[in-house]
Order: sequence, then structure tokens, then C-alpha cells
Amino acid sequence: MKRYNHFIDGQYVEPVEGAWIDSIDPYQGKPWAQIPQGGAQDADRAVKAAAKAMHSGPWAKMNATERARLMLRLADLVEQNADRLAEIEVRDNGKLFAEMRGQMLYHPNWWRYFAGLADKIEGRVVPIDKQDHFAYTRQEPVGVVAAITAWNSPLLFVAWKCAAAIAAGCAVVVKPSEFASVSTLEFADLVRQAGFPPGVFNVVTGYGHEVGSALVDHPDVAKVTFTGSDATGARIYAQAAQSMKRVSLELGGKSPNIVFDDCDPVAAASGVISGIFAATGQTCIAGSRLLVQNSIKEEFTKRLVELATSAKKGDPMSPDTNIGPVTTRPQYEKILSYIDIAKQEGARCLLGGGPATSPELPGGQFVEPTIFTDVTTDMRIAREEVFGPVLSIIGFEDEEEAIQIANDTIYGLAAGVWTKDMGRAFRVSSAVKAGTVWVNTYRAVSYMMPFGGMKHSGIGRESGIEAINEYLETKSTWISYSDAVPANPFILR
Ligand code: NAD
Repeated sequence: MKRYNHFIDGQYVEPVEGAWIDSIDPYQGKPWAQIPQGGAQDADRAVKAAAKAMHSGPWAKMNATERARLMLRLADLVEQNADRLAEIEVRDNGKLFAEMRGQMLYHPNWWRYFAGLADKIEGRVVPIDKQDHFAYTRQEPVGVVAAITAWNSPLLFVAWKCAAAIAAGCAVVVKPSEFASVSTLEFADLVRQAGFPPGVFNVVTGYGHEVGSALVDHPDVAKVTFTGSDATGARIYAQAAQSMKRVSLELGGKSPNIVFDDCDPVAAASGVISGIFAATGQTCIAGSRLLVQNSIKEEFTKRLVELATSAKKGDPMSPDTNIGPVTTRPQYEKILSYIDIAKQEGARCLLGGGPATSPELPGGQFVEPTIFTDVTTDMRIAREEVFGPVLSIIGFEDEEEAIQIANDTIYGLAAGVWTKDMGRAFRVSSAVKAGTVWVNTYRAVSYMMPFGGMKHSGIGRESGIEAINEYLETKSTWISYSDAVPANPFILR
């Protein structure tokens, strides 16, 4: 079993306190690697290395075109290592190899896109209203960035956060989830091979309340960018406020997938299945609330049950597996407890409703794809994020009611709308409060398209041109070219 070390200042280094955590393969249910259990001293070393890189190292002197060249080299390296990185992700989080390989082959696009933006970060000359002043703005890197990520797509989150931060000229310290850190530690070696100066990209691993919290408190961290649960996000937001850090949060959701009776039922059913059962439901954008028009509810539900019944559970490395294991033991228990809650609340279980066990499912962390109907909007299963393969079906009469139910949530990450009526598509997509709305599609994500949540689903945007602003500060500079001295120095100029 391989033992990993932190990646700090361009080198792999042992954790100061000499402790490691087993990383469990969720399919086999066995440890397969060890990651450092970092603490405050490791966080401090990494932040100091990042601060040194930003303020006095070669990174500080590099122009944006040179930064971009390194990013392009890194993109090529990720592409060349896509299969290996995907396999590591599968070992750590149990998601399907086919999905993770696709993610790894797509990942370089973030580096290329933001490399393209790096030398287009410009200020403005403001045609200022004050006489004899030249006034301009500069966009400066915000400072050292702490990037704290979740376990479901570790390297995708590295791309979303770090490509934009590095293009902006920042240095980063990544703290991946303790459940899935190996891919980020391996990725660090590609950053080194690409030729980035030491300290630009650092990785410290361990528990959130230890090394993660130390990063959030560190006085030399200017910005925290976080992907994870809303409970942890709220804690980090409050904690970061103590030192006035900038914060971006990518949090959870309870996304409505709204199916109207004028939709293409085959496409809609496939979209609903993909929305809730892909990645075993462990995605922030899971369409976990199916809102279906009452006129087609029975027939549509039957179609979904048939499709979900045919989903094959098994080894995530195998190309014919549709549903892999749940990534972590606590998550597995949480999903089962929500299934119990739904049953107690009176939701009717049409499919699944418990653990999946068989000799081909060795690790003991599989859950049957589960469909509940007769769900009402007050039930916890309709309001709280399960983060598992559990679909709640709620009926509605008309467009107005669909919008009202869709927005009856604290979350606002994503939504789906299935209709052939384009007028309805525009009306509903603009009325739903969510950062992303998909019409007649679901789970489409691109480096070009801003992604983020409204309401409790987060603050800020990743991907797209907007994302670079999350890592920049605007500085306003005023230069007087007047020889006159103001007559009254006690008033505003
Ligand atoms: P989590 O909140 O438990 O952990 C996320 C990260 O925060 C981990 O690295 C963890 O170690 C760290 N952490 C925990 N406590 C901390 C603390 N006190 N200080 C600093 N860091 C701390 O989330 P998770 O279980 O890893 O991920 C699942 C959640 O992530 C779900 O709610 C899901 O919706 C959300 N998510 C959101 C997006 C998005 O882009 N919006 C994407 C994927 C997942």
C-alpha cells in the first residue's frame, strides 16, 4: 500500500506530526493507500510557501503569457495521464471509470480556457471627472488561495478552482477531502513536471477540522474557495469572516427536475434517471426532486421504474456497470437513514428502499436505486439533500404550481425543465431560482459556462469568464498631474 506525503513548495514532504490516514476503496471496502493527516503546522508551511511564491519567487516576476504557457503544458500532461488519474479517482471514490475518464479527458479544457484568459486580465482607464487627474484600475491577484474540496469529483474541483486562481496570478493550497485525496496528490507531480515554480501549487491533506480549519484561520490566506456541504460551508463562511477573507462557496442542492406533459417522455425519463442515479446520486446537481405533471404522472413513473430496474450495480471499473458503491461509510448510513425517514413520513416506496447486497458487491456500501412517490413538499425527503440514489416524486397541476414547488426550497443550485413548448421553457427557466437551469437536458457542464448556486447553494461562480473575478481585486489608482495645491486641504477633492 502506497503512503503519500503532502506536496509543499515543490516537494513531497512528510506530515509534521508523522500521522497518516487510510484511504478506503469503497468498492472493495479495504484501505488501498495512506494520506498524510495534516495539522496546523503543515497548513502553515504550505501557506508560507504559497505566499513566498506570490511575493518574491519567480512566479511573482512571471508575466501572464508565461503563466499561461505553464498552464497549457499542465493541460497536456493531464490529458496524457487521464486513464491513470481516472483509475485513482475510482479507487478513492467508487465512481464509474467511464465517468471519471470522461472527466479527466475534459479536465484540461479548464487549464486551456483560463490560460487563454490570463493575458486578457485588464484594468480600465476611467475618463475621470476630476481635473488634472489620470485615473485607472488594475486587476491584481487576490493573494494566497485555500481551495477546500469534496470527495465526489476531486480533480474536477481542482480544475475549477485552481485554473482560474493560477491564471489570475495567485498561488494555491489545496485541501482535498480526507476520503479522496490521492488524485490531488498525484496531480501535484504533474504541476511540478509542467515547470511551475515551487509554492504555486501545494497540497495538504487530512481532516477538515484540523488542517482545513487551520487554512481558513491562517492570516496569510486571502481567499477560501470551498466545495462541500452547506453545513461546513456556513461554518467556513463565519470563521473566515473573523479575518475578513474573501469566500466562494459551492454547496449542496435539492434540485427540481420538472416534467411537463408536453415533453418527449423518452428523453425526459433518460434525463431524470441521469439526474438522480448517475454517480450513485452523489452529485451536487442531482435532480433529487422530480416534479411531474399529474396528467402523465402514473405513466411516466412506470417508465422510470422500468429504466431504474435495469441499472446494473457492480464494479465501478467495469464498462457495463451503471451504479457503483456509495463513497464513504457515513454517507452510506446517511442515505439509508433518509430512506427510513421517507418511509416513516408516509412516502410510498416504488423501487429499492434499502441496501443492495450480493457476492458481486463486496465492500458493503451499495444502495438500491430508490424511488419514492406520493411525496409532499413538507417531507424531509423533499427538503433535505440526501446525496444518494433516492428520487422523490411530487405531482403538480400546472406551470404556476410547478414553479411554486420548484422554488419551495432553501437551495438554488440547478433545475431541469422538460417541455416541447419553447414559451414555457423560457417562462419556467427564468422563474426558477437556480444558478443553472437545463431545458430538455441535464448534467451538462462546461468550462465556458458559469456554475454556482443561489440561496443556500453557494456564493460565487466557477467556470466561464466570471470565474476569474473570484481571484482578483480591483485597485483604483489616481495620479494628479496638476501643479496647483488645493486651497482647502480639509475637504474632499
Ligand atoms: P463536507 O462539507 O463534509 O467536506 C468538504 C471539505 O471540507 C472536505 O475537504 C472536508 O475535509 C472539509 N472540511 C470539513 N470541515 C471543515 C472545517 N471545519 N474547516 C475547513 N474544512 C472543513 O462535504 P463532502 O461530504 O466532502 O461533500 C458532499 C457535499 O458537497 C454535498 O453537500 C454536495 O452537494 C456538495 N458539493 C457541492 C458541489 C458544488 O459545486 N456546488 C459539488 C460537489 C459537492
